[in-house]
Amino acid sequence: MSAPSDWSDEIGRRVESMVALRRDFHRHPELSFQEKRTAEIIAERLHGAGLEVRAGIAGTGVVGVLRGERPGKTIAWRADIDALPLTEILDAPFSSGTPGVMHACGHDGHTAIAITLAEIMSARRAEVPGTAVFIFQPAEELLGGAKPMIEAGVLDNPRVDEIYGLHLTTQDRAGSVNVRRGPTMASGDGFTVEVTGKGGHGAYPHLSVDPMTAAAHILIGMQSLVTKEVAAKETVVLSVGQIQAGTKNNIIPDKAVMRGTLRTFDFDVREQMLGRLQSFVADMARAYRAEARLDLTMGCPPVVNPDREAGLVHRCAVEELGEAAVKEGPPVMASDDMSLFLRARPGCYFRVGIAPAHGRAAPHHAPEFEMNEDGLPIGLRVALGVMRSRLAPQPG
Ligand SMILES: [Zn+2]
Ligand SMILES: [Zn+2]
Repeated sequence: MSAPSDWSDEIGRRVESMVALRRDFHRHPELSFQEKRTAEIIAERLHGAGLEVRAGIAGTGVVGVLRGERPGKTIAWRADIDALPLTEILDAPFSSGTPGVMHACGHDGHTAIAITLAEIMSARRAEVPGTAVFIFQPAEELLGGAKPMIEAGVLDNPRVDEIYGLHLTTQDRAGSVNVRRGPTMASGDGFTVEVTGKGGHGAYPHLSVDPMTAAAHILIGMQSLVTKEVAAKETVVLSVGQIQAGTKNNIIPDKAVMRGTLRTFDFDVREQMLGRLQSFVADMARAYRAEARLDLTMGCPPVVNPDREAGLVHRCAVEELGEAAVKEGPPVMASDDMSLFLRARPGCYFRVGIAPAHGRAAPHHAPEFEMNEDGLPIGLRVALGVMRSRLAPQPG
């Protein structure tokens, strides 16, 4: 194996082009499953680097395979590529050129890092053991891209042993890396409750069946489910964000609809709550002579990093950046369908800081979101360290 400094030079040489690539993606953001231009550039760059490229997977997904010249394992790196329906506030030369669409989660950076990672490893192919698989997934923001990519066989052909990836975050300062063992991001599922009653005059509620009263009790009751049926040590958030019913103050409508989200860090708690909500909603409605139905929009399970692989990434990050730059922060309630890849294979999803050195950072998914690009080479450095160390043949 060559000295680490050789590979540092590879990173140093490419920082400028990686930042330029990120800015190009930022200037031309594309919504989930519409990442056509982005996918074309990814495929073009991977082709140029001499990888085997498959495009059009799950619509706009791209996979690049790099076969090293020594025996080793098959390790995947996953990046997500989509943008969000937001109008950017910041005025930079590379600000979004598409009104109403913006890279406000950092996926432009994820894509630029992954392409550069593939290019470096390809340039040093003679020293690369095993097979590196670069997975560019569409539609993370809909929690909808990972599943069809997995179903299309991106983990099977070639057979991937482990999978890794990173998410940039404005919650940590640039220069730092956050690797967590166990649950690191929450599950995210949506639900719709439709309560059906019988409409009538507001003066004579006894002649109608008021779906809104039933809906109100269901809403409060669902909060009790969280506190009374889930062990207190578990984290569960159940929020209703939408209620729709009625047309006028003195008309009892015949229907009320609520939409909400359920999040937790535990696979079993997720199953328990999703299963229980169905019957609970129907039973509550019956108590008020109404009927209710719950439809789930299955999102994704929690992101859980196995201890072993998280430990390996932690060690790599410390080797690359030093102890002070690496921490194990608390889990976050946001969701990411990287969880589905990590259900299928061992691996680790870690966070890389992009907060400005001074002042307050804007949150993700906000129109004022801004990336401190100093975090990009940090992410690339750790990614390269992880891929190199995991690709080498492992005893046992
Ligand atoms: Zn996001
Ligand atoms: Zn994201």
